[in-house]
Amino acid sequence: MTYHAFLIKYAEIGIKGKNRHLFEDALIRNMGSALKEVEGTFSISKESGRIYVTMDGPYDYEGAVEALTRVFGIAYICPVVIMKSGSFEELKDRVTGYVKEMYPEDGGRRTFKVFARRGDKRFPMNSMEIARELGGAILDVCPYLSVDVHSPKIRLNVEIRHQFYIYSENITGPGGMPVGTNGSATLLLSGGIDSPVAGYMIAKRGVKIDAVYFHAPPYTSERAKQKVVDLAKLVSRYSGPIRLHVVNFTDVQMAIYEKCPHDELTIIMRRYMMRIAEYFAKKNGTFGLITGESIGQVASQTIQSLVCTNAVCTLPVFRPLIGFDKQEIIKVSEKIGTYETSILPFEDCCTIFVAKHPVTKPIQKQIEKSERKLDDVIDDLVKTAIDTTEVIEVG
Ligand code: ATP
Ligand code: MG
Repeated sequence: MTYHAFLIKYAEIGIKGKNRHLFEDALIRNMGSALKEVEGTFSISKESGRIYVTMDGPYDYEGAVEALTRVFGIAYICPVVIMKSGSFEELKDRVTGYVKEMYPEDGGRRTFKVFARRGDKRFPMNSMEIARELGGAILDVCPYLSVDVHSPKIRLNVEIRHQFYIYSENITGPGGMPVGTNGSATLLLSGGIDSPVAGYMIAKRGVKIDAVYFHAPPYTSERAKQKVVDLAKLVSRYSGPIRLHVVNFTDVQMAIYEKCPHDELTIIMRRYMMRIAEYFAKKNGTFGLITGESIGQVASQTIQSLVCTNAVCTLPVFRPLIGFDKQEIIKVSEKIGTYETSILPFEDCCTIFVAKHPVTKPIQKQIEKSERKLDDVIDDLVKTAIDTTEVIEVG
């Protein structure tokens, strides 16, 4: 089947009242960016509360569908056959041809219903008549189908406008809201499984994301860093461009290692990560931090540890995976295509300086006391880490 357009049905943005056009415009913009990579000429238009992508000439159908299934805000993508207007007889031929090709006899019994809409009131038949006539014609040509007006399996839409539109397929989109319609936040992106999923989930709610990655050369390699850049690139296929900050964390980590109790290393390190990430979050005017934490997953994510980590931030920290089991997180990472990259075996800066028996119930006062041992050096080290941060535009 050659399709000439996609009708885009949108998710929640349909209910945004007065701001609806802002959401629609953002959606159209994001769809445009996604389709830029795809072979073909696409134009996107808004017509009486609907968004259409129209193709001019040959194009890569699979590529276009794939690109659109990554644009948040889209609920369904309906491939449409467009017929330049003609007589009703011509329409009937085209519709029956469409149904025969789309739903050939397969031995089973399938039901259908014709949904006719008449946008062009000059057309001599009303929508009831159109539906009834087309339904009859389909039954003649495809006797293996039957009509069910209550819960049809095949919902055949025929719209009469300045052209005729025929469609029946709904390809599921990613849902969510268009990125850029809900502010921005800064993702702490590691090379693990969780944080890319966390970034995806927040972006899905329409939030534009920046990212911060902490590495510890020479303890962590260039390849570990490249892995994070690759993960950012994969997330950016959904979220749009990501500004990735790569922070050299080695000296901060060494100082913590030398001066603080070893069972508190991870929690103190996490607190410095949050502080530095928040610095960039504020500098770039974003509204919050995002992490891939989930209650109890590791020692640094017990509820007491989360309290201690959270205490150094003034911006809200969004933890979309907080109630997810690891298996559930893996499922999402597989779906969005980050899993294979996440499991590549490169060292992470957290794993190098870990204690054998980290505290699992840190007490904030005690952690603060341990951090005071860093007083002489830490401000300079944090400043240097910030000043030497490399910024990579990804996506
Ligand atoms: P992930 O799979 O996301 O790496 P994790 O299970 O390894 O998570 P932790 O190492 O405790 O868990 O990290 C918790 C969160 O802290 C991560 O989800 C991420 O948001 C952030 N984080 C951890 N390490 C780094 C890092 N090197 N750079 C940036 N953020 C990090
Ligand atoms: Mg990790």
